Amino acid sequence: MTAQGDGPRYGREHLRHVIGYVPGVQPEPSAIKLNTNENPYPPSPAVLAALTDISVRSLQRYPDPTAAGFRECAARLHDLQANQIIATNGGDELLRLAITTFVDPGRAIGIVTPSYGVYSVLAEIHQAPLSRAPLMDDWILATDTSTRWNDAGAQLAILTNPHAPTGALFSLDAIERLAASFSGVLLIDEAYIDFVDPSRRYNAAELIARHSNILLLRTLSKGYSLAGIRMAYGMANAALIEPMLGKTKDSYNVDAIAQRLGTAAIEDRAYARSTWDRVREERARLTEGLEALGFAVAPSEANFVLASVPSAAGASNARAMKDGLEARGIYVRWFDEDRLRDRLRISIGTGAENTAVLRLLGEMVHERGAGRST
Ligand code: PMP
Repeated sequence: MTAQGDGPRYGREHLRHVIGYVPGVQPEPSAIKLNTNENPYPPSPAVLAALTDISVRSLQRYPDPTAAGFRECAARLHDLQANQIIATNGGDELLRLAITTFVDPGRAIGIVTPSYGVYSVLAEIHQAPLSRAPLMDDWILATDTSTRWNDAGAQLAILTNPHAPTGALFSLDAIERLAASFSGVLLIDEAYIDFVDPSRRYNAAELIARHSNILLLRTLSKGYSLAGIRMAYGMANAALIEPMLGKTKDSYNVDAIAQRLGTAAIEDRAYARSTWDRVREERARLTEGLEALGFAVAPSEANFVLASVPSAAGASNARAMKDGLEARGIYVRWFDEDRLRDRLRISIGTGAENTAVLRLLGEMVHERGAGRST
């Protein structure tokens, strides 16, 4: 084997310039981890029961290639047919599948900015140019969003709703207008949908019957506290699901354990819902606490908040605050990106975790405020 540098180069040329997605750090278990939007509460007891019920012997066989049992169950949950559902190895797999299935070589993908970083990395890997539609000041959709995407010839557009990293929920009407005016497949990434206040009456699954180009992404990582197994699903008209299910996915893309636990989790939706209620209560408390410290917090329907650091503490200090929290065992997210550098994205933790982050941030704001005035 030749040492790298003096032999032939392997790999696609353009990949040398691609910067991979960097997930939030995985600190030691004793840390307070509010950096990757996991559910702070454990999965349903039904998941534990399903796990202990799995025999080692059953792992000798391949899993069901299409996760039929899980898909039936998800279909019942959303009032759809099983052929309108695909199970995937995490939401990230569905994003990749949508790109390989719906985007011809060289054709564009539409996103809004800011957006979940994986979208642009997957587009770059696919050598698909990005058509970026910046969100407006209050993180609402610009009226020319679909025009931009159409003008760029985008065959797929991806929009997170509730949006990440802002937490803003776009209305069902706004989504429907986008679906009607965009000429490609519109993937609505609903990774955080479970945390939306039910009084908003948001249910995009009902748009599937009216719009043949809508593809919804759901994950069990957040709402069902199962980020550790990789389990998600897509919902759309059968004509969109069929090529992914029959052609582009890996033969056995979802393992047997994920299928069993995922099914147990969505069957016990009542338990999961109780965690969503608690997350919403804590979201309101964390938001109030941050605002009392002088942070400006974007209204969030997700299980995180995006908070601008108080101007008295210096707008450029968000990163220093993130580092300061980290040094004391609390992990939050900071993005080195336009419109985000003066903000922290904080996942909603348990009551005790949120109290801890508020206390430390309070100390920092006061130290910095005092430092500036002397
Ligand atoms: N979409 C968004 C916006 C996300 O934040 C994430 C998780 N970071 C995903 C999709 C994918 O989640 P998973 O692969 O865990 O299902």
